[in-house]
Amino acid sequence: MEVFLIWFGLAVVVGFLAARYDRSILGWVLLALLVSGLIAALLLLVLGQAGKKCPQCSETCKRDARVCRHCAYEFATTLRS
Ligand SMILES: [Zn+2]
Repeated sequence: MEVFLIWFGLAVVVGFLAARYDRSILGWVLLALLVSGLIAALLLLVLGQAGKKCPQCSETCKRDARVCRHCAYEFATTLRS
């Protein structure tokens, strides 16, 4: 039974990570539940390092960029310290 709790816990963590990287929370939680929270988290970290996709021009920008370097789209400033 504890295994399922850990499994769910990891999925929730992945959800938080997904939110941090401006990605689909539900999609990533489902992925974490399907495969494994660890695998999903690793995948998310790799993708997060790679960059984020601009919603306006679909180009990839640096993860910490506030303005898209391709089309000058301003990313929503999330609560990030
Ligand atoms: Zn752009």
